[in-house]
Amino acid sequence: MYGEGIIKGMAQTAKNFVTSYIDKDRLTTVEYPEERLPLSQATRNFPFLVFDNDPEKGLRCVACKICEKECPPQCIYIILERDEKGKPKKAPRVFDIDISVCMSCQICVEVCPFDAIKMDQVYELSRTDRFGGLLLNKTDLRKSNEYYHSIHPDEAAEVDARLAEEKAKAAAKAAAPAPAKPAAAATPTAGGAVSPATTTPPPAKPVADPKPIATTATEATKAAPNPAPTTGTAGILPASSPPTPTATKPTQTELNL
Ligand code: SF4
Ligand code: SF4
Repeated sequence: MYGEGIIKGMAQTAKNFVTSYIDKDRLTTVEYPEERLPLSQATRNFPFLVFDNDPEKGLRCVACKICEKECPPQCIYIILERDEKGKPKKAPRVFDIDISVCMSCQICVEVCPFDAIKMDQVYELSRTDRFGGLLLNKTDLRKSNEYYHSIHPDEAAEVDARLAEEKAKAAAKAAAPAPAKPAAAATPTAGGAVSPATTTPPPAKPVADPKPIATTATEATKAAPNPAPTTGTAGILPASSPPTPTATKPTQTELNL
C-alpha cells in the first residue's frame, strides 16, 4: 500500500511519545545541558597533557618535540624549558595547541614515547574569540592522571601498568652492580701462579753532567776543544801554537871572521 512505511514510522513515534511518560527506557532524549549521556571510551576530540600528582613538576612531557614534528597540520608549538645557565630541563616552557587547526587524528598520542599526551573528550569549546580563544596553552592542556582514568579507564590502566613495569626495570638496572673491569696484564710467578701485575717503573737514565757555561772570553777559550788541524801553509800546526823560528843564513862578514 502506498505510504505504508510512513504510517508505520508515525505509529512508532506515537508509541514512544505516550509510553515515555511511564517507561524510562522509551525516553531516548535527555535534557541537555542539565543532563548528559555518558560518552564511550573511544570518544576523542582534542589532545591534553597528562601529569602525575603535581601539575607543575609532574608533567610527563619532556619537550622532546616529536609530536610537534609529526603533527600533520603543525598545530603544536613547544619551547623547551631551561635553567638560568641555559641547561635543558626536560620540560616544556611553552606548549600550545591550536585546536582550531587540530584535526583530532591522534598521531601526537601515537608517537609520544612518554605517554604524556592523550585525547580528551570535552566538546563544549565554543568561544567568542575565534583565534586566541582556541589556542590552548600549557595551563589549559594539563590534566591529571585521575582525569585520564575517568575518561579512558581501560587505556589508562594499561598505560599505568606499562609505566610501572618500565620504572621497575630501570630501578633494577640501577641497583645492579657494575660489571667488573677486565684485569690488567697478569705476571706469572715462579710457582706458575699468576699474580696481578705490579707495574715497576723502568730505572731512570743517569743524567749527564752538564757542561759549565763559559761566562767570559778566557773561559770560553779554555773550554773550547782543540781546533782541528787545517790544511795549507800554516797549516799543519794548530792555530793556537806559537810561530816556529825561521833559520837565517850567516852573512859574508860573519864568515870572514
Ligand atoms: S607530548 Fe610527548 S612527544 Fe610531545 S613533546 Fe611531550 S614528551 Fe615529546
Ligand atoms: S590530534 Fe593530530 S592534528 Fe591534533 S594536535 Fe595531535 S597530531 Fe596534531
